[in-house]
Amino acid sequence: MARMRRKSELPTKVCVACARPFTWRKKWARDWDEVKYCSEACRRQGPARTTTTGVSSPRKASAAP
Ligand SMILES: [Zn+2]
Repeated sequence: MARMRRKSELPTKVCVACARPFTWRKKWARDWDEVKYCSEACRRQGPARTTTTGVSSPRKASAAP
């Protein structure tokens, strides 16, 4: 039986790109509230596609009259 191991008291968040939890890092000390990605790769990737308000709503190709 593995004991419940408390890593530390560091806060955690869930990456919006890969949906994986990541732990607070020192480099995020200042921007922790704004951190959304666990890594640079995810940051480039951007948020995962989910049901969101169409940021770039595609134009409806109006059929020719
Ligand atoms: Zn990630």
